[in-house]
Amino acid sequence: MKIGIVGAGFVGGSIADALMNKNGIHEIVLIDHTPKKAMAQAMDIMDAVPFSSDININAGDYKDLHDAEIVVITAGVNQKSGETRLQLVSKNIKIMKSIIPEVMKFAPKNVILVIVSNPLDVMVMLATKLSKLPANRVIGTGTMLDTARFQVYLSKKLNVSPQVIDAFVLGEHGDSSVLNWESVNVSCLDLANYCEQMNIPFTATNKKTIEQRVRGCAQTIIEGKGATWYGVGYACASLIQTIINDEHKLYTTSSVSNEILGKPIAFSLPRIIGRIGVENTLIPVLSKNELKDLKHSGKIILDYFNKHK
Ligand code: NAD
Repeated sequence: MKIGIVGAGFVGGSIADALMNKNGIHEIVLIDHTPKKAMAQAMDIMDAVPFSSDININAGDYKDLHDAEIVVITAGVNQKSGETRLQLVSKNIKIMKSIIPEVMKFAPKNVILVIVSNPLDVMVMLATKLSKLPANRVIGTGTMLDTARFQVYLSKKLNVSPQVIDAFVLGEHGDSSVLNWESVNVSCLDLANYCEQMNIPFTATNKKTIEQRVRGCAQTIIEGKGATWYGVGYACASLIQTIINDEHKLYTTSSVSNEILGKPIAFSLPRIIGRIGVENTLIPVLSKNELKDLKHSGKIILDYFNKHK
C-alpha cells in the first residue's frame, strides 16, 4: 500500500519514520510546499531502510497521490510555548483549504484522510466538508496522544503496564478535553477495585496530579524542545496499521458524528477502526460532570469551526 503524507516537518517526518516498522506499506510519498524539505526528509529516512523494512520513501507532488489509499495531513504551523492549539486556527484553516482540493483532485475517490494538523477537531470538520468524503473516511488522531499520556501516568501510580489500562481522554484535542475517570479500568477491574486489591491508596490529590500532568505534557515538551513529534508519530502509524490490516482496534479518534451534542461535530470518542475507516463509535460510561464537560468541549469546537470555516 502507498501512503501519502502532506507536510514533511517534525510530525510528517516522524510518522514516516514510525511507519518504517509497520507491515503492508510499499511506498510513502512526502509532499511539502518546500519541496527541498520533503526531499531531505525522504533521503534521511531512506538511510534507515537497510536497518528496517524495505519501503520506498519519495518526495513528490499531489499527482503522486493517484494510487495512495491513505493520505495523512500534517501541514501547518505548530504551537509555540504558551500558545493553545485553537490559536493556530486562522493560519491552518488557510493551509487546509489549499491542500484538500489538491489531494481530492488526484487521490483515489475512496481515499482515507488521516488528519493530524491542529486545531485537530476543527481541521477534521473542515477536511470532511471540503473533501465530501463520508465522515468515516476522515479520521483525526484526536486525543490518541492524550489518552496515551493518561494511560502512562496512571500506570506509574498503579504499578502496572499502560497496555492493560483502559483510560480515555475524550472531546477536543486541546484545553477542553475530558479525562473519563468514570470508565477507567485495569483489565477486568475498575479503578477502585484494582487499588483495593493492590493496596494502592488513590486520593483526590493523586487524581489531580495525573490530570495536571496529562494536560500539561504537550506544553512541557514544547518548552523543552520546541515541538512534539515522537508520540504522535507512533500513534498515527498505529492508526494506519490498524486501517491497512483491518484490525478493528479501538482508539479515541476524531471524526464528524452526532453523538453527545445531537448535531454533526468532530471530537474524540472511542471508535473502532478498520479497513473502511471508522466502523463504530462508542459512548463510554460518563459521570454527570464528564457529560457536561464533553458537551462544553463540543460547543467550543463548533463555535471555532463556525467562526473560521
Ligand atoms: P513543522 O513546522 O515542523 O512542519 C509543518 C510542515 O508543513 C512544514 O514542513 C511546512 O513547510 C509544511 N507546510 C506548510 N504549509 C503547507 C502547505 N500549504 N502545503 C504543504 N505543506 C505545507 O510543524 P510540525 O511540528 O510537524 O507540526 C505540524 C502540525 O501538526 C501542526 O499543526 C501541529 O500543531 C500538529 N501536531 C498535532 C499533533 C496531534 O496530536 N494531532 C501533535 C503534534 C503536532
